[in-house]
Amino acid sequence: MAVNVPASELEALQALPAQDLLAWAVERFHPHLKLACSFSAEDLVVLDMLTQLVEAPRVFTLDTGRLHQETYDLVDRVRERYGLEIEVYFPDFGAVERMVREHGMNLFYKSVELRKLCCRVRKVEPLKRALKGVKAWVTGLRREQSPTRAGLQKVEVDEAHGGLLKLNPLADWTREDVWRYVRERNLPYNALYDRGFKSIGCAPCTRPVGPNEPERAGRWWWESPDTKECGLHVRS
Ligand code: SF4
Repeated sequence: MAVNVPASELEALQALPAQDLLAWAVERFHPHLKLACSFSAEDLVVLDMLTQLVEAPRVFTLDTGRLHQETYDLVDRVRERYGLEIEVYFPDFGAVERMVREHGMNLFYKSVELRKLCCRVRKVEPLKRALKGVKAWVTGLRREQSPTRAGLQKVEVDEAHGGLLKLNPLADWTREDVWRYVRERNLPYNALYDRGFKSIGCAPCTRPVGPNEPERAGRWWWESPDTKECGLHVRS
């Protein structure tokens, strides 16, 4: 759903701290505002902020069918802590069946094209359904996470999804900022972080990384760092 916000207002919003930007978004768009939550530490920071602004923020997650058990455990802990209904979107089962019959269960290791096909079927198409009727969506993306995110704005017009607003309130946060907030608010977090993971996606496509490796080095580690994204966060 396309949203019109004057360019001067968009410009002013870029300077707002995370909490203030979320307060603006809740005031302006709730209940047509959704948080995309993969249950990363960043997403839980944003979720925690939203729960301080509105009783029942709308939160969705994409269950690719290939997530870590630790992620599923966390989903339930978060549901219980906040008393929230999480909108879970699954891939189209017919599309998954066709894909694995044709290319195998572990197609993502065979080529970049097949990895991207899997991400399209399991993530990108369900995201489109999750964003139907929404005016703005929120992510926990940060510029520091990877070269592909270095130019991230706090507020973007998401042309790939019909011109709705995309808010990245933590765009200018560091990893340390995130973990300080997690500790101060005693937030639940994915147990895999304590086992060397810095970024957590699907189980077959994520591995732990060394202390000096980039944050997303463990995602699709066999691909080039300049291109690896799953297609959820397309920027024009
Ligand atoms: S991250 Fe891996 S398993 Fe998950 S959707 Fe993408 S290719 Fe498929």
